[in-house]
Amino acid sequence: MNNPSVSPEAEAKFLRATIHSLNSSISVTTLAGDIVFVNSAWQAFGEQNAGCASTIAGVGMNYFESCEKAAKGGDAHARRAVRAIKLVATGASKLEYLEYPCHSPTKKRWFTMRVTRFEVDGAPYVSIMHIDVTTRKLAEIRTRELAVKDPLTDLFNRRAFDEELQSLLHKADEIDCLTLALIDIDHFKQVNDSYGHSYGDECLQKVAAILKEAFSAESCFVARYGGEEFAVIMVGLSPREAVGLMEAFVAKLAGAGIEHKGAKTGDVLTVSAGLVTTVDYEQLALDRLMDIADEKLYEAKDGGRNQLRHTIMPSS
Ligand code: GH3
Ligand code: MG
Ligand code: MG
Repeated sequence: MNNPSVSPEAEAKFLRATIHSLNSSISVTTLAGDIVFVNSAWQAFGEQNAGCASTIAGVGMNYFESCEKAAKGGDAHARRAVRAIKLVATGASKLEYLEYPCHSPTKKRWFTMRVTRFEVDGAPYVSIMHIDVTTRKLAEIRTRELAVKDPLTDLFNRRAFDEELQSLLHKADEIDCLTLALIDIDHFKQVNDSYGHSYGDECLQKVAAILKEAFSAESCFVARYGGEEFAVIMVGLSPREAVGLMEAFVAKLAGAGIEHKGAKTGDVLTVSAGLVTTVDYEQLALDRLMDIADEKLYEAKDGGRNQLRHTIMPSS
């Protein structure tokens, strides 16, 4: 401390009290991972929670062993933690940061682990500090959600759909079959004109919910592509399976009986859909696929609506 009138003993007490007053959890280990010090926040964290390596590690224990135990118990980040600590302990790195989730049964939480090395009387130690970054992480997740989700239907938006399609370009080798579907509500303008815009919004939400349910498989990606138009990507499904899912969706929609009196297709809301399945896709073909799905959709519209059209590319 700067004040020369403070004795070394008082200074030690002061620093000790400061360390224990922090809300960041701190532990100090030897280079071999033996824990020689933990502050109050670390201790409290261990008492309140379970699951992360740090919650089962106290003075006298070995942090690496605690991490191994946590890793065996399903904490996927514990091994990364050991790697980061060893990098600093061996001098390969001066400072390591690691961000990881450590959720309690009641609360989602994320932490940043900061690892540094210091010496006291020539003896090296590693300082491990955990900082709760949950507030920032939740804000990040929320921001990301707002960027990729459509607020009315909670489906992915067009931006997310385009990103998903782009990311599939890089997996062309792994995917043998991909179906793109465009779904457009029939005579939707008339829904708004007859029932009002808020009923129209309700219809969009209902259709979205049925879509989500019908295409809930992990192989499917559903988005609101535009106003009353939706898009689905199905990866790894055979043409028959993809068409089967679409038919099941259409049946569910019909079963829901969403009122649309005056539509030329009947008294309930219907859709038209265009699907294209590619059994051998390449980078260039993917952009073209959207056009083909669109062409198929308009064939379905021209054919009288309330129907689907499907094609396989390349055609044999
Ligand atoms: P078609 O059978 O040829 O598809 O006819 P349509 O009336 O569905 O097609 P059109 O493209 O003429 O009209 C689409 C309508 O969808 C017009 C627009 O007002 C409405 N719409 C787009 N987005 C929304 C929305 O978020 N809420 C509501 N209520 N209506 C929307
Ligand atoms: Mg449309
Ligand atoms: Mg329409």
